[in-house]
Parts: sequence; structure tokens; C-alpha cells
Amino acid sequence: MIPLFKVEMAADAADRVTAVLDSGMLGHGPLVGEFERELGARLGNPHVAALNNGTSGLQLALRLAGAADRPGGEVLSTPFTFEATNWSILAGGQRITWVDIDPATLNMDLDDLAKKITPLTRAIMVVHWGGSPVDVDRLTRVLDDAEAAHGHRPVVVEDCAQAWGARVHGRPLGNHGNLCVFSFHATKHLSCGTGGLLVLRGEQDLLRARRLRFFGIERDADRVHADYDVPEWGYNFYMNEISAAIGLSSLTAVDDRIARHRGNAAFYDAELAGVPGLELTARSEGLESSFWLYPVKVDDRAGFMRKMAEAGVEVSMVSRRNDAHGCAPPGRALPGLEAVHDRVVHIPVGWWLSEEDRAHIARTIRSGW
Ligand SMILES: *Cc1c(COP(=O)(O)O)cnc(C)c1O
Repeated sequence: MIPLFKVEMAADAADRVTAVLDSGMLGHGPLVGEFERELGARLGNPHVAALNNGTSGLQLALRLAGAADRPGGEVLSTPFTFEATNWSILAGGQRITWVDIDPATLNMDLDDLAKKITPLTRAIMVVHWGGSPVDVDRLTRVLDDAEAAHGHRPVVVEDCAQAWGARVHGRPLGNHGNLCVFSFHATKHLSCGTGGLLVLRGEQDLLRARRLRFFGIERDADRVHADYDVPEWGYNFYMNEISAAIGLSSLTAVDDRIARHRGNAAFYDAELAGVPGLELTARSEGLESSFWLYPVKVDDRAGFMRKMAEAGVEVSMVSRRNDAHGCAPPGRALPGLEAVHDRVVHIPVGWWLSEEDRAHIARTIRSGW
């Protein structure tokens, strides 16, 4: 079976982890700081806090956004995502109002967002699905207009969990004035085993995030004499040294891997264009996907999935529309989502595909289902 996801460690990961085990410093230590400096340099934004996973990052981002401490506020979000996005909103005691998706991109429909922002909106959660970036410049303009209309600007949280390596007009995500969260889960482009990163808007935000990831305690607080105060309670969300060691080793391989994903995506874009019953997602000038996933929209999805399974190719819907779950508020009037949710499926695009693999996948699809 050609898999949809694959986990493989860089060559020096085991040595780096062994060094951590020998050091006796498994929790806090110097590697997390080193990892943060490397990540900040790559993003072009030094205000970053490493965390135990991406979901913690989303919860912490919403807390910083003022959408977690007081219950009952409204957060606008997309139902077309992995559940971690939206359960983070529920974890903070907030109400979700669903915004439709653009069937062309599968990302949030910014026109529908503009209509749904009200003075009650505390935060907005957008997702760069599959690594394909939302047009964050346009998003900024939507927020400018909302602020002019309501005198209130909700904080935007970008769920960049799938989008390490994505760029908007040449700049990495994490540079557009929003709170951004990356995931370093085992299957993501950049892996720590489990891990995450919160990208902040400045120094004040960063200092607060650093406290809140560790119970609200300053790391250098005098805990021997208990001569310290916690003005604001926080979480146990910090990254440990083992994860940072794995992350530092993954950094040596990640750019090559993303280039392989992009190469495979370009191959499919050419090979699958015009196949009857199949539609590609939209490509936009300046919005460069990391292609963690390669979604396509197909007629007779069940038939497509059967055919691919018979050809030894793993394909998947990846997630169920989140508004259909029992714990979530039901979505109403989401025509963009309705238009595609029975047709979307993801095909393997990762660095592990050989030329023969991807040619086999394209040939199988072109032969019909
Ligand atoms: C992977 C993922 C997350 C969660 O990240 P973890 O690091 O596993 O907590 C959140 N949102 C999306 C869209 C994801 O794909």
C-alpha cells in the first residue's frame, strides 16, 4: 500500500535523543531555546514559544486572544478541519459560529467571514488546510473593514498545523499580525514526535505565553523559598528536551522533504488536469502551499476510493465536517461546504513517493473509476 502519511526520523535523531537521556535534563533545558531560535530565524519572527503540541498552541492562542477566560464568547471558525481546531475553542468555554468554506480552496470563505463578524466576535480561527495558505492579506483587509464598522477587531488565530513551509508572497506564515500555531506531530512536515509552536505578535505576548505554558510561573522564579506570585494561572504546555532534540534533527531534512511534496503536487497538477469527474483545488499566485496534503474533488467518491484501494493506494477524507459531530453546534446554511464535502478526498503526495509510485497513482486515476 502506498501510504498517505509516513513518519521517518532524520539520521542523527537517535544520537541527539540519547544525548538528552544521558544529560539528565529531560524536562526544561537548553535545547528548547535552541530550537526556538532556529524556528524563529526560519520564520523571520523571533517571537515564538515551543509547546508540547499544536492543540495546546491553539488553546493558548485563544487565551491570549481573550477568547478562553470568560465563558460564552463567540469564535468564528471553519467546520472543514481536523477536530483539534474546533475542540480548542470548546475547551476555552466559547461558542462556535461556523463560517462557510470556499469550495475552490477548501479554506474559509472570507466573504462569508466578513458577513459574520459582529461586536460579539472574540476571535476568528482560520485553517490553512493541507498547507494551502488562506489569503492572509485579504483577511487583514476584512478585519480592517470590520474594525471600521464595529470599532472592534477580533484577534485572528491561524491554525498552521499543516502548513510549515507555506509562504504568502514569499514570506512564511507567522508574519501577518496574527497568532499562529504550528504542529510538530509525528506525521507533520516538521516532526518532534509530538510538539507545537505558537508564533506571537511581539515581546509582551511572548513573555505572557512563556509564563502561561508553565502554570503561569516565571521560569526563574524563586521556588525554593516560595517567594513568587502567579498573577495569572497557566497550563502545563511546555516542550520537553527530547521533543526539541528530535525537532532539531528534523530541521535538517524538512526543506528537502517539502520540496519533494511540492514536486509531486506539480506532477499531479499537470497529470490530473482535465480528468473527467475530478477537480483540483484552486492555485493562486503568491499563495504557496506546503502540500502536506493533496486534496481533490471527485464524483462518486466511494467508487474512487474503492478503485484506489484496489490499486494499493491509500486515500482518505482525513476529517469529518466538524459541525456534524454530536458535541458541536450544527452548521446551518453552508452551501460552500455542502457543495464539496461529499467529494473531497486526499491522495498521497509525500516525499516517500517514488517516480513510479506517483506515475502509478496518476495512471490509475486517469483510467477512471
Ligand atoms: C495536526 C493538527 C492539529 C493538532 O496538532 P497536534 O500537534 O497534534 O496537537 C491541529 N489542527 C490541524 C488542522 C491539524 O492538522
